[in-house]
Amino acid sequence: MFPAKVARAAGSGGSVPVESCQVCGHAPLATVLSLGYMPPVNQMVAIGKVPRQQPWFPTNLLHCPKCELVQLGLAVDPVIIFPPEYPYTSGTTKLLRDNFAELYAEAAGMLALAPQDLIVDIGSNDGTLLSNFKSHRVLGIEPTEVGKIASSCGIPTLTRYFTPAVAAEVKREHGPARVVTAANCFAHIEDVHAIVEGILDLLAPDGVFISESHYLIGLLERLQYDTVYHEHLRYYSLASLAHLLQMHGLEVFHARPIPTHGGSIRVYAARRGVRPVNASVAQMLAGEPRGEAMRARLDKFRNEVMLSKLRLLAMLRDLKEQGARICGISAPSRASTLVNYLGLDEAIVDYVCEIAGSLKIGKCMPGTSIPVIEESRLFSDQPDCAIIFSWHIADELAPKLRAQGYRGKLLTPLPVPREL
Ligand SMILES: [Zn+2]
Repeated sequence: MFPAKVARAAGSGGSVPVESCQVCGHAPLATVLSLGYMPPVNQMVAIGKVPRQQPWFPTNLLHCPKCELVQLGLAVDPVIIFPPEYPYTSGTTKLLRDNFAELYAEAAGMLALAPQDLIVDIGSNDGTLLSNFKSHRVLGIEPTEVGKIASSCGIPTLTRYFTPAVAAEVKREHGPARVVTAANCFAHIEDVHAIVEGILDLLAPDGVFISESHYLIGLLERLQYDTVYHEHLRYYSLASLAHLLQMHGLEVFHARPIPTHGGSIRVYAARRGVRPVNASVAQMLAGEPRGEAMRARLDKFRNEVMLSKLRLLAMLRDLKEQGARICGISAPSRASTLVNYLGLDEAIVDYVCEIAGSLKIGKCMPGTSIPVIEESRLFSDQPDCAIIFSWHIADELAPKLRAQGYRGKLLTPLPVPREL
């Protein structure tokens, strides 16, 4: 039923090229975009440490003509891209906190959740999502150390990668789950069919799987090539995601766009026929290109990405010719793709600011010697220009930076480089 077992990067200590579709097994896949070689986004070297050798991975986006899945051309061993010291926490982004509060309101209402219902979150990170579900039974599953933050806040968390074996173990100990959530991690796990089988096993007969993933159509529209990095193996449209779930007998019954990560999709699925299908599903599907139209859309995207790089470099060249000092605002994973695709270094960007408490402070931007420092420096230093690398939340960040007294130019690099 599922593609024959292919070589897996997990456990290899390295990487494995994706030579056939991760979902349907079709080959060959068409190349959409090539961003060159990239360092792992979350391996950040301490400031001042002598640079040592480190792996760089080819970063190509591929399209499956059969099931429409857009996917990365290389799978990297999770021990490399999700090291135990993984410095990403959901709780630091207001947009994410608000989104998860809203997810709870929507899900609790639509699914009529009861206090004894078990909610399991896969890739539960610091527990931000589950903190909204605390009036029910909750369990987080998180492979990195960040899970300890959740545990310390009273959210039971297993420090494990989610696998069918872990799903079976959870079911034995806690019973079946009424809801399984996977927010911004369902595109990250290599053996996706095993994951869906694990979810299916864990779900009660009337259980619901809710996933949030970065949305391919939004990625194309807002030119978010900077979200292409090795954590993200798949870039779902609703059509490709629904197809994957269908292969396992799961039916999407509600879907809608949400604003997180610059444009994501929230999808509700249950066993086929268990729940009536909301009109939202057909509506979203109707807005997605397929076949020839998708190929044309992807070609257009490739051209726009290339032009965007040249435009941003031209803008930075003009600034540097005028002697401007440039810094960066925030160091999300996506900044690593932008910085490395453009070839920015510490001669162009003096430093990148993160808010106090960020685990990235004291380290260098991946693949470069650009230091990441605490944000207060921005206000004492007043560099001429600041590039907002978290440009997808520029509306949240820019007014704060002004209110705190930053007087220089604020630039957003994408979708079109511009001064705010
Ligand atoms: Zn496919």
